[in-house]
Amino acid sequence: MSKKNNYRYVAYDAANGDYQEFETLKEAEDWLTEDDGEGISNEACCGQNYIAEIQYRSVVTTVDERSNYHVHTDECPEDCDEEEWPYNDDWDFIGKHSYEKIDWDKE
Ligand SMILES: [Zn+2]
Repeated sequence: MSKKNNYRYVAYDAANGDYQEFETLKEAEDWLTEDDGEGISNEACCGQNYIAEIQYRSVVTTVDERSNYHVHTDECPEDCDEEEWPYNDDWDFIGKHSYEKIDWDKE
């Protein structure tokens, strides 16, 4: 899993249906207003662009992993009843996916 980022704001550009993440409010506002010299979009005029502060972040905790289970080999007795990984072979772990409130004063 890669390192979490420090983006605090999400700017939405309604005219282009595009969004981008920023660490500061000023960067977000600059991104939304940088092309104003070529004309301010109708969407901006109608209040459809916005800057949101990120409130929750995804957290995945491991519930179970493949290494906790037995893998049958030639060494196993014929009636081996050790428990095998009961989930999809493509998965190395089972996780619980949830969202945690960010306390920006502590970050
Ligand atoms: Zn076995």
